[in-house]
Amino acid sequence: MARSFVEEARKRVGSKRGRIGPIVERLKVEHADAGIALSFRSDIELLVSVMLSAQTTDVNVNRVTATLFRKYRRPEDYLATPQEELERDIYATGFFRQKAKAIRGTMRMLIEEYDGRVPRRLEDLVRLPGVARKTANVVAAELGEPQGVVVDTHVRRLSQRLGLTREDDPVKIERDLQRLVPRQEWGIFPHLLIWHGRRVCIARAPRCDDCVLVDLCPSSRL
Ligand code: SF4
Repeated sequence: MARSFVEEARKRVGSKRGRIGPIVERLKVEHADAGIALSFRSDIELLVSVMLSAQTTDVNVNRVTATLFRKYRRPEDYLATPQEELERDIYATGFFRQKAKAIRGTMRMLIEEYDGRVPRRLEDLVRLPGVARKTANVVAAELGEPQGVVVDTHVRRLSQRLGLTREDDPVKIERDLQRLVPRQEWGIFPHLLIWHGRRVCIARAPRCDDCVLVDLCPSSRL
């Protein structure tokens, strides 16, 4: 019964291939300010910010990095400081021991293998200690070279509600989105879903009556 209701809803809104264009366009108009909420001025600062943002809010990271980035400017600065001091400097972002270790390991590899620069390719980014695929995707997209689609909790929920995937595993969801979303939109698309997820399609209480996607969404409550 539930299944046939879902099938009916999917039929009503049409194929995902036909809907993806209008979904992206409408969200771009609705969330023209969508973008990364972390503050950074260089590739190194971007990478460190994204690494620090695991398990905490962007606001919290920005509060910490406002001071951190005055003290640590180059990869060498993170290695010239004892691990314990770096731990204290990033303490407020949580998981400070793991994060300090990962940042120092990453800086060492950047110096030894990448001339102290942040690489662009996903294969290189995921080699850096403590840099998982999601972090690598965020960094690559922000550097203007998206090579995947970032899947966080909002992207997962909205992709499912919008009927863009039937998967639950982030890796499989990313694969579905890569097949569906035009490549030039891979960078902005997650930001659009994240902002829509925070403002309108909220986890516990989606505000379908205020949603610009209502006629394109099989989960609409209207
Ligand atoms: S119509 Fe409702 S469920 Fe669908 S995307 Fe909008 S808020 Fe979310």
